[in-house]
Amino acid sequence: METLALYEKYLREISKLNSAVALLVWDQRTYIPKGGHEARAEVVGKLSTMAFEMAISDELGGYLEALEGQDGLSEAQRASVRVVGKQYRRTKAIPPALFEQYVIDRSKSEAAWEEAKENGDFALFEPHLTKMVDYAKKFAEYYGYEDCAYDALVDEFEPGMTCRELKTIIEPLREKLVPLLRRLTEDGTAPDNRLLAGSFPLDKQRELSLRALRTMNYDFNHGRMDDTVHPFTIGIAPGDVRVTNRFIETMPLSGLMGAMHEGGHALYDLGMPAEIQYLGLGNGASFGFHESQSRMWENMVGRSLPFWKMFRREVVDVFPQLSSATAEDLYRAVNVVKPSLIRVEADEVTYNLHIMVRFELEQALFDGSLAVADLPEAWNSTMEEYLGVRPASNAEGVLQDVHWSGGMFGYFPSYMLGNLYAAQLFAAIRRDIPDLDSRIAGGDTKPLLDWTRDKIHLVGQIYEPADLIRKVTDEPLSPSYFLDYIEAKYFPMYGL
Ligand code: ZN
Repeated sequence: METLALYEKYLREISKLNSAVALLVWDQRTYIPKGGHEARAEVVGKLSTMAFEMAISDELGGYLEALEGQDGLSEAQRASVRVVGKQYRRTKAIPPALFEQYVIDRSKSEAAWEEAKENGDFALFEPHLTKMVDYAKKFAEYYGYEDCAYDALVDEFEPGMTCRELKTIIEPLREKLVPLLRRLTEDGTAPDNRLLAGSFPLDKQRELSLRALRTMNYDFNHGRMDDTVHPFTIGIAPGDVRVTNRFIETMPLSGLMGAMHEGGHALYDLGMPAEIQYLGLGNGASFGFHESQSRMWENMVGRSLPFWKMFRREVVDVFPQLSSATAEDLYRAVNVVKPSLIRVEADEVTYNLHIMVRFELEQALFDGSLAVADLPEAWNSTMEEYLGVRPASNAEGVLQDVHWSGGMFGYFPSYMLGNLYAAQLFAAIRRDIPDLDSRIAGGDTKPLLDWTRDKIHLVGQIYEPADLIRKVTDEPLSPSYFLDYIEAKYFPMYGL
């Protein structure tokens, strides 16, 4: 077992470097003074390169080769060899000179995107995006795939997922969701959310978010919440997982929902034992699974009536101007469905449609049926088809998301899968905890956390997402749970 001990020690050294990088990045995005950015970027670059070199070294390759197929490994150790080995081979597959050029072109592309978005001018971004698509196509060839090139890209975020399987999930979902949305907006009566109009002091909003995180049993001995521009959760090390948040004076509950979202991510990371994390299994089963934990707390809990029965008194305590609002009023006010142009502001009914637009276009870019130059028009007409709204400018259309500028193709489906996993998991949780609603309404969310901890968090990345969802819910992933959840919630609320 000599090799195993050396392998584990080696992974632990990599994770120490990554931990230092995470802390520096957290500081970059929260408290660093403006003048510190330039020098900090150099330090982050240096440490990241050291971690990267360790992750593709011949030494690690040697350990992996010796351990693959070796008897006597635990389930977690075998998973580690599989996951670390896969990443190792993917990274090694790309010729270093090509990767170096890609990193340079990627930062140019990100800068061009920022400028293009500011000016709503797609032409500024087009040549860079073309390059990013070409790189991704080349990388897919090096990674290898069976069916479509897109599979090799999705695999990075959602191990084992394929474009064929995504289509079998997306098509039936879209066929139901598009008419469902039309019915809600045309025949239904939208809830009244005027009570949330006005100005709400930021420090009070911050206080409310802290209370929500405590309600979720997020442990402030193992984390903290700080202000930032684009909220994120970051694991510094086992036992130190931090959330960040942002508050807008005229949107009193937007920070609260953000806190619950990021809190869900943080609970996942905090629930993974250190020994799992040190084996390189600390990222969760997939990006989609990670998103399922955040969406579950944000939507299935934070936008539910039982939650508002419990949380109303906190809201009124912090904002006395809302004292005439009932739990039902607040519940309704946070559940208005409105097709909009911007994904990150979308409600839970329309959110998946935004993802489908991106999936459709990514597919077309990678199977060669769509040229980058035709992307803006394709974007606008697909938005109109699925959501019934058409962007007036590219800034609120094809240029709104940062992902493509950094060459991240195949990432968007994870957001949708997160919603679908969340609905399927929540249905299973309800079966196992029949009094869940009354527990939450009474302020006790612990049974929910314990369930997810036990079945999902503890195992980290030991199982691939398709295996984990089947193991935990006795079924493969199915969009029907999400549709049932949406219908059961929104038809009565909209008087249908
Ligand atoms: Zn998230």
